[in-house]
Amino acid sequence: MYASIATVCLSGTLSEKVAAIAAAGFKHIEIFENDLISFDGSVKEASALIQDNGLQVVTLQPFRDFEGLQQRDRVLAFDRAKLKFEQMHELGTELLMVCSSTHPNSVGGITRLADDFNELGELASSCGMRVAYEALAWGKHINDYRDSWEVVRQANHRAVGLVLDSFHIFSRGTDLNAIQNIPGNQIFLVQTADAPKLSMDHLSWSRHYRSFPGQGELNIEAFMNVLASTGYDGPLSHEIFNDIFRRSDPMQTAVDGYRSSQYLLSMLPQQQNSVPEPVPLSGFDFVEIATQAKHQKPLHALLGAVGFVKQGKHREMQAEHWRCGDVQFVLNSDPEFANQFLEKRGTGVVALGLKVDSAYATTKRANFMGVPVVEPAQVNALHSMVGMENVDGTVWYWVDASTSQHAFDSAFESLKVEDEKTAIPLIDRVDHISLSQSYPDFLSSLLGFRVIFDLDIAPAFDVFDPQGLIQSQVVHNRDRSFQLAFNATDAKNTHSARFIERAKGSGVQHIALATPDIFSCAEAIQNGGVDCIRIPQNYYPDLQARFGLEDALCQKLMRFNILYDQDDNGVFYQLYTMPIEGRLFFEFVQRENNYQGLGAANAWLRASAQQLSEVAG
Ligand code: MG
Ligand code: MG
Repeated sequence: MYASIATVCLSGTLSEKVAAIAAAGFKHIEIFENDLISFDGSVKEASALIQDNGLQVVTLQPFRDFEGLQQRDRVLAFDRAKLKFEQMHELGTELLMVCSSTHPNSVGGITRLADDFNELGELASSCGMRVAYEALAWGKHINDYRDSWEVVRQANHRAVGLVLDSFHIFSRGTDLNAIQNIPGNQIFLVQTADAPKLSMDHLSWSRHYRSFPGQGELNIEAFMNVLASTGYDGPLSHEIFNDIFRRSDPMQTAVDGYRSSQYLLSMLPQQQNSVPEPVPLSGFDFVEIATQAKHQKPLHALLGAVGFVKQGKHREMQAEHWRCGDVQFVLNSDPEFANQFLEKRGTGVVALGLKVDSAYATTKRANFMGVPVVEPAQVNALHSMVGMENVDGTVWYWVDASTSQHAFDSAFESLKVEDEKTAIPLIDRVDHISLSQSYPDFLSSLLGFRVIFDLDIAPAFDVFDPQGLIQSQVVHNRDRSFQLAFNATDAKNTHSARFIERAKGSGVQHIALATPDIFSCAEAIQNGGVDCIRIPQNYYPDLQARFGLEDALCQKLMRFNILYDQDDNGVFYQLYTMPIEGRLFFEFVQRENNYQGLGAANAWLRASAQQLSEVAG
């Protein structure tokens, strides 16, 4: 199998699409009919453009409303096919993709449709062409690949084959098992798309919400496994209709498409020895925050209050190393480094360390996925860590047991730690990191993490901010020692949008630290003079009634502005600080009895409370 992408995935003109697709590393392309018709030039000129970019056309698509027609409608359908075959000759492709009919006059019946395809196969082969039949999930008579396969089987013509499109199959929840009985050489084309799981009609879901494999929630791996069992060896072609892609930079979309293709290829059983495995993550090693020296005070107060101790200072830069147990922060206020970032973005996260089994294996996996690896020399670093630059500009280093201690020892000079004996460590680990991203950045960074690391994706959900909707989605490793929350919004004044505006772009919006004792933590923060967001008081009687909480617990929650939730397993407590310079903030959480998730039930209230607290100043 080999990678391909349909022009419909990208924004722009055919010339822009072709250039981006070629630059991203693709060698094969599907030409979407609208892109050819709207091209400013002849079919021959379009073909020259495609060839000049080193691309080969795998199919012209879609050929709509062909089968099941009668009389004049049928004659016209065959005439249209003749025109397409002529154009395909000029485009240098021999495959026409026919999708199942939605024509109001079309009639059904497998045998009748098979006869139409037999005749089309004759016409195609007389022109040196082939046709492939796709069951649209909303096709009038054929909307299930098992039926389109039966049409192809009965058409019984060597120029007629099948299209499998992962979206159409998953959107109707069709069983995948029948795929394994289809001979691979009778599948002429495979189209790949992922999507969030939504309950809506198939057509709207498909036209607006498809995404690259790795960006959605469908079980693409199961699809690839059963596909591999057929012996299919043709194109794996992304076909994505997505409102965000329609307005995004075509180059970024093409680059993401390439990564997604590599991700698909890595799922094939026969690849397993040659492709580096997805990398297991086991949490966060450190978080680096850039801030000016004059703005360090609130960070020092906050970290000091919950038991962090300053361990070292950087040998060359103006930067500090703080630690509490296994949790480490770097506060970087070096004028040369921090100022260029800070002038633009303000205090914020510039880099993170991810705990991996092997940094070497992670680099190999990133290379295979087409994700550029940031080398220490590129960032003038004393350490030897490598990582990836996320689309929002943050660098995510991969750190294994052999590099972690060494990275800090080589870059930081240890300080004589005086407070260590008196500091009471209240923090266990980083619970999760939350990112506020523009929609294009959200899809791009979600994919970047999923193609390299072995992560599960939780269902997307909506957060009702008082100023609009925020879409939220979490990825995590199996034991949830690594959790990343993505937030994206189109509504201008939501909390997420305000962050992006103030930080001049997508980035890390909050850092959630896990504590074994939320009340001691809250008290310590309060005593340290750190402001937390105020939770509207009406929340607490409601909470008490919902969960039957004791008066004393409720009073305590209210006193410290702590949010509370329960799931089938356990209990979750959350406390939020006020944002620093209106941007980055901290969350403190306590999990009891293996509570799952990040407190989605309270997210809407947190958004409201943040707005109220910001207004109150
Ligand atoms: Mg399709
Ligand atoms: Mg959070």
